[in-house]
Amino acid sequence: MQKIIIIGGGAAGFFAAITCAEHNPNTEIIILERSSKVLQKVKVSGGGRCNVTHACFIPNELIEFYPRGKKELLGPFHQFMTGDTMQWFEERGVPLKIEADNRVFPQSNSSQTIIDCLVNSIKNAGVQIKLGHSVENIQKDNEQWKVCTNKGDFIADKLLIATGSNTKVWELILNLGHTIIPPVPSLFTFKINDNRIKEIPGISVPNATVSLIDSKFESNGPLLITHWGLSGPAVLKLSAFGALFLAEKNYQYSVKVNWLSKPLSTVLQKLKILKKENQKKQLILKSLFKDIPKRLWEQLVLASEIKSTQRWADISNKQLDNLANQLTNTIFNAYGKTTFKEEFVTAGGVDLKEINFKRFESKIHNNLFFAGEVLNIDAVTGGFNFQNAWTGGYIAGKSLSLTLSKGEGTSTGII
Ligand SMILES: Cc1cc2nc3c(=O)[nH]c(=O)nc-3n(C[C@H](O)[C@H](O)[C@H](O)COP(=O)(O)OP(=O)(O)OC[C@H]3O[C@@H](n4cnc5c(N)ncnc54)[C@H](O)[C@@H]3O)c2cc1C
Repeated sequence: MQKIIIIGGGAAGFFAAITCAEHNPNTEIIILERSSKVLQKVKVSGGGRCNVTHACFIPNELIEFYPRGKKELLGPFHQFMTGDTMQWFEERGVPLKIEADNRVFPQSNSSQTIIDCLVNSIKNAGVQIKLGHSVENIQKDNEQWKVCTNKGDFIADKLLIATGSNTKVWELILNLGHTIIPPVPSLFTFKINDNRIKEIPGISVPNATVSLIDSKFESNGPLLITHWGLSGPAVLKLSAFGALFLAEKNYQYSVKVNWLSKPLSTVLQKLKILKKENQKKQLILKSLFKDIPKRLWEQLVLASEIKSTQRWADISNKQLDNLANQLTNTIFNAYGKTTFKEEFVTAGGVDLKEINFKRFESKIHNNLFFAGEVLNIDAVTGGFNFQNAWTGGYIAGKSLSLTLSKGEGTSTGII
């Protein structure tokens, strides 16, 4: 019977263990988990509701949500996709629902449902879980793996590392000859101290374009003003795609906001029409753009050097230019990041060039596999990070299930 060790009792480790056991009952699988509980991130995920995946069913479209891992995940998504994840859970008695923004949650609205399903499946599959076993060293011993923990050593024919963003394990992987792309945070909000937004936390616009000055990074979507600066889907997406750029800048950066996602010339034209139509009205009193809430309008008007008493008729061309600029081209100096608690991930990890994505196996060592966030893969919010864990876990699990050919220590069969 071949012996398999999986390090890490998170989403990827569990999915791999269940898949392996179900594909080949003739395996002994042990999960080594350093903490006293498994699946802890699943528990807190999605604000306690667990956003399991995303209702995007075309691999070519799905990869666009991954700043790192886009190219490499295309093949794997053809093997195990979001729809497969949904089917997997629903067949095991977890009804799911797709919300308006395409995020997928258990109908129970509780991550515990997902945990119960995974824990039951792993029990039925006969996988052993060793809690409180922190892996401290990994060595190749002839054709086997020796895994040293605080509670003793384990020997395996095949090893899967699914330890998420754990710095100490990355050091162990580095010692095995792999390259580790240095970790940097992803999915955070922008810290900004600016009079234009200081007094109006809670205000949001439905479709802003936010870009990072001096870079190619730009994103569209809902934008939220908070007590600390800017947040919302547009900002989180930008933080993920610009993660390396922002880390290099030591989080001292400038952000441009186009509150209307329209060209300056179009907005200026509209302002000129509004001036003609509303001559006698006081400009500051009402936002005539449906997507600009009144309190934001007031701030942008004042920032355009327009007095609160001025009527539309009295607005100079220079003031109209200023206002068009504020609406489409507001520049904020940002000075840091704050954590987005609903979901946060780390960019960085095992270099993707060193992985065979048909099997999620190391190109450096036979019978060494990786899945989940331990790899240099991360996504924006919306269930994509778990999908990476499910897909990697599934394919790695299938690869682990293949029987070893005698003496060679390599897998037989094609998956
Ligand atoms: C607050 C929060 C909310 C989130 N919400 C969502 C969401 O709703 N949807 C989504 O798609 N993504 C979400 N994410 C991201 C998602 O949780 C991760 O991408 C996913 O959990 C990664 O799975 P993993 O199995 O690779 O790693 P992990 O879930 O981190 O599991 C790794 C496991 O390895 C164990 N381990 C580490 N080192 C050792 C060691 N030396 N020895 C033994 N064991 C070890 C850890 O204890 C852990 O149990 C959220 C993240 C956070 C932090």
